[in-house]
Amino acid sequence: MAEIFKGLVCNDEIALTVIKSTDIVNKAIGYFDLSPVAAAALGRTLSICSMMGYELKGEKDYLTAVINGGGDIGIITVTASSSGNVKGYVTNPHVESHINSFGKLDVAKAVGVDGKLTVIKNLGLKDPYVGTSDLVSGEIAEDFANYFATSEQTPCGVALGVKIGKDGDCLSAGGIFASVLPFASEESISAFEKVFSSLSNVSALMDGKSAEAFAQETFASLGLRKIDSASCGYVCDCSKDKIDKVLISLSKQDVDELIAERGCVEVVCQFCNKKYVYDKQQAYEVCGFEK
Ligand SMILES: [Zn+2]
Repeated sequence: MAEIFKGLVCNDEIALTVIKSTDIVNKAIGYFDLSPVAAAALGRTLSICSMMGYELKGEKDYLTAVINGGGDIGIITVTASSSGNVKGYVTNPHVESHINSFGKLDVAKAVGVDGKLTVIKNLGLKDPYVGTSDLVSGEIAEDFANYFATSEQTPCGVALGVKIGKDGDCLSAGGIFASVLPFASEESISAFEKVFSSLSNVSALMDGKSAEAFAQETFASLGLRKIDSASCGYVCDCSKDKIDKVLISLSKQDVDELIAERGCVEVVCQFCNKKYVYDKQQAYEVCGFEK
């Protein structure tokens, strides 16, 4: 399982969330056979969305983040619940991996920077909350930090890291999400920035440590106070019932064409790649068509 830790630092003036998300990223790699750069881009997005989801108050609240930067990876879509559980996918899971001038996977090149980040929060109200911001780097962390500053008017620090090994597995992944509370003093903010700016390589710093151990070690000098911690993971809740509802939207002509072409109707869950297969009789039954 992945692990989320929540606390306060700097006289309780800055809220801090830390995630250890290696398991989440490896589950996504397993479902989609992600290329290294796709694993890094989706893994970073899964990590920040899990922490954002955990901030939601209501048990049934959830959020979806969509990144469309015009790069070869296509669109990144991630959904997170208030338990911190996440799921997500990218248009092109096998996008080619390049290395940037820092010797790291070039996430910005794969994602692109010519586009937007959109966050949709479903908080049990009549309409969802929708916020949008321009992408600023395509590296994901900066893009979310900019989203919080411009769309939610909350100054935040976001650091995300996904380290992929030679065999394509994720060796270490994690993230930090810090938000400056409205009453924070300048002294607290600059003390925090000093520590935060030294955390450029989160996946390496968190390697071999739990989220809580990393937080305690890194933020002890800022008077870290624990709020809570929880387990979370990559969870897809698809089921035949839910896929049946997708099938119902097909016309009789659609179903007949699919049966003629492939002998069955196949629906693939975007979030876990699970295939749901219906033969003609089953498809007709679900859709309520006469034989
Ligand atoms: Zn699924």
